[in-house]
Amino acid sequence: MSGKVKKCAGKEAFQRMNYLYQAANALVTENDSKYVASIHYINLMQSISKKTVQRMDIETKRTICKGCKTLLLAGVNCRVRMKKKRLRWICNLCGQTKTFDMNNRNYCPWQQNPESIVQIVDMGND
Ligand SMILES: [Zn+2]
Repeated sequence: MSGKVKKCAGKEAFQRMNYLYQAANALVTENDSKYVASIHYINLMQSISKKTVQRMDIETKRTICKGCKTLLLAGVNCRVRMKKKRLRWICNLCGQTKTFDMNNRNYCPWQQNPESIVQIVDMGND
């Protein structure tokens, strides 16, 4: 047995997911025709998350459309409606809606910096 143990696999995965998220974000904001690339990044991110069994940040998950996997940005590629204290996001691409109940959850602004995604998992020493 040698001392070669990959200690920071979890951290690397988080960093990659973080990077992909930011790239997807930048693409959606930049230009309509770049949705496809953005969706590709989100798909990559989800497969990294599955492969490495790292859970995606809840705030990150909230901004991904369940229908077409695009990154939802309010006012950019989705409409936001407020109804009976429920926030509904309607995807402009596929029409899928996401509902956030503002009553029972501590709602955080989604504009929150995705930097908070990076949580360094302490895997212990040797
Ligand atoms: Zn969609």
